[in-house]
Amino acid sequence: MPETSAMADLQDVVVVGAGQAGFQAAASLRDNGFAGRISLIGDEPGLPYQRPPLSKAYLTGATDRVALNLRPESFFTQAAIDLRTGQRVMFIDRARKCIRLSNETTLPYDHLVLATGARNRTLDLPGADLDGVLQLRSAGDADALRNRLPDIKRIAIIGAGFIGLELAALASSMGIAVTILEASTRPMSRALSETMSRFFLEAHQATGVRFVFDAVVTRIRDHQGRAIAVDTADGQTHPADLVLVGVGVVPNVELAADAGLAVANGIVVDAHLATADPSISAIGDCAAYPQPFAGGERRRIESVQNAVDHARCLAARLTGKPQPYRAVPWFWSDQGPFKLQIAGLPAPHDHHVVRGDPSSSAFSVFCFRDGRLAGVESVNKAADHMIARRLLSSGAALSPDEAANQTFDLKARATGSLAA
Ligand SMILES: Cc1cc2nc3c(=O)[nH]c(=O)nc-3n(C[C@H](O)[C@H](O)[C@H](O)COP(=O)(O)OP(=O)(O)OC[C@H]3O[C@@H](n4cnc5c(N)ncnc54)[C@H](O)[C@@H]3O)c2cc1C
Repeated sequence: MPETSAMADLQDVVVVGAGQAGFQAAASLRDNGFAGRISLIGDEPGLPYQRPPLSKAYLTGATDRVALNLRPESFFTQAAIDLRTGQRVMFIDRARKCIRLSNETTLPYDHLVLATGARNRTLDLPGADLDGVLQLRSAGDADALRNRLPDIKRIAIIGAGFIGLELAALASSMGIAVTILEASTRPMSRALSETMSRFFLEAHQATGVRFVFDAVVTRIRDHQGRAIAVDTADGQTHPADLVLVGVGVVPNVELAADAGLAVANGIVVDAHLATADPSISAIGDCAAYPQPFAGGERRRIESVQNAVDHARCLAARLTGKPQPYRAVPWFWSDQGPFKLQIAGLPAPHDHHVVRGDPSSSAFSVFCFRDGRLAGVESVNKAADHMIARRLLSSGAALSPDEAANQTFDLKARATGSLAA
């Protein structure tokens, strides 16, 4: 259990990283009545913003930059949050309890929150740094992509993860020919059941998206410095005017590691999101924590829900109401007309059943691990998703037969009015 008595004396909280988690930590501290100083430091320019629209409405122009902002500037002034953006935290001096910024200023802290997020994994192969090879993490990346999309005819997307597939749906709706090069054997294979992968594979193929699985990218070809095609190890060349690399992220742990904190695919924290140093916590995409829905295994989760709920959990602890983190993970992805929602952690699972009819494009897949519900994947079935979150948070027992039976009242089981 972290030191709660000392928490009452906190005066200076410094948050490193002004993304979803960092912003929420600052806002929730004030919501919980914290009256001390809060500094929120981010190395990106501008106000803290949300990333999900970057691969969705923002790329089409349906959402503008201002709409991405999590709050207007006045919010930070009124909440007395000292927001410093465009500045990087370079160093943590744990002995003196202060940090040093890129502009050489030093800030003291009583408690330091690391919300440094993650950055895109890059490819280490010839042509990876050519003009026309893009990635998508920041608003700046999205601007570059948005500017180029109207002028291209063919795009190659390396990686069939959520971001690659969201972009594929969008590009194909703009009349762009899409080729997806994926190293594994199916889309979104790390996160989803085979049934759900197949549904999305067929849905994207129906709009003309071309998939190449078991693809080992060896090189990106250029003409006068500009990307024109992607080569794969099987000897194929895939022509493209633009290449998007979407091969996952790596957590930003260097600051923590340099300060002597433990890192293991993320900054290592306990169930209260505290590092081994009681004055430093880590939250959001950068934090590796014991995940109750993975049997307590240390996990790092990349989602808005995780960032927001981590921040709230931490703010509660810093204001004297500590609770171990145990929020149900959930996530969404919009791909063309399909809204995919995931509750819990479906992967890995040993058994799954389908509830509803995939041919109606509105159904759910219930995934079981060791006889217990592990996660639920829903397409255009918001009601199933919401019930799944309740089932998982209550821990109510559910059998695969009950899940597959459409007349079985899931809600009654979730609320406890129908016993197992
Ligand atoms: C294109 C895209 C689409 C997405 N879509 C979805 C979706 O549909 N649903 C969903 O649930 N999730 C989605 N996500 C994931 C979600 O946005 C992330 O999980 C969430 O942003 C994590 O928040 P975070 O604050 O932990 O990290 P981030 O948002 O990455 O913020 C961390 C910030 O810290 C800054 N930073 C790092 N080091 C330093 C330093 N030393 N000094 C100062 N600043 C520093 C970083 O530059 C960054 O601004 C998407 C992500 C992307 C990129």
